[in-house]
Amino acid sequence: MARLCLILFGSPGSGKGTQAKLLKESLGIAHISTGDMLRERVASGDEIGRSVASLMQAGELVPDETVNRLVEERIEQPDCANGFILDGYPRTVQQAKLLAELLVLRPIRTVVIHLVVDYNVIIARISGRRQCQACGALYGVTSNAPKNPGVCDKDGTSLGIRDDDREEVVRERLKAYEQQTAPVLAYFKKSGIPCWNVEAADVAPQVIAQEIEGLIRKERGEAA
Ligand code: AMP
Repeated sequence: MARLCLILFGSPGSGKGTQAKLLKESLGIAHISTGDMLRERVASGDEIGRSVASLMQAGELVPDETVNRLVEERIEQPDCANGFILDGYPRTVQQAKLLAELLVLRPIRTVVIHLVVDYNVIIARISGRRQCQACGALYGVTSNAPKNPGVCDKDGTSLGIRDDDREEVVRERLKAYEQQTAPVLAYFKKSGIPCWNVEAADVAPQVIAQEIEGLIRKERGEAA
């Protein structure tokens, strides 16, 4: 069976990370989050981290060459042998073009899942989001709330607000999405890549994940 490149597409706060974590387990493929990779670089203070920190803090996209290089290296890792989920990449048409070049020579099936969520829901969702200061786990206020308020379920560390989850930064991130990322969907469609819209506003994450698994089975020609 050909490897799978599952592109989770959608605005910040649409639930790409949550879905990627669920689908990574059920599909047995790697999860590649460019946001997480960049945050790790910022935390480590290396050259890449230092060059992108202020852009990330302002909610702007980092240069295409930087993320392209990270992804190019990452998909060569052994855990990507069966396929991978791209979460937060590609975010510009330029990145989508590089990805197409990387994938064209490989036996890989690409599927795009567009998580559709209204912007007002996004702003409410992100401004209520809290993150563990130690392990990075994300929690919500209504869905996926921690068992004890303000404390991580996994390691008991106190939760904080992610730097770029402040409302003014969220608005910048949505602007970047609207201007630079939304056009990528049209590019995928023009390139003949299967794209599916999945309604993701008021639906439990497990239900959304099952719907996505069903779409993937359909794409692979398996029985639903
Ligand atoms: P995320 O966690 O995916 O929302 O990403 C957090 C931030 O990392 C974004 O607001 C951007 O500054 C940066 N970032 C993540 N992925 C990309 C990408 N594919 N292209 C450019 N910037 C990115």
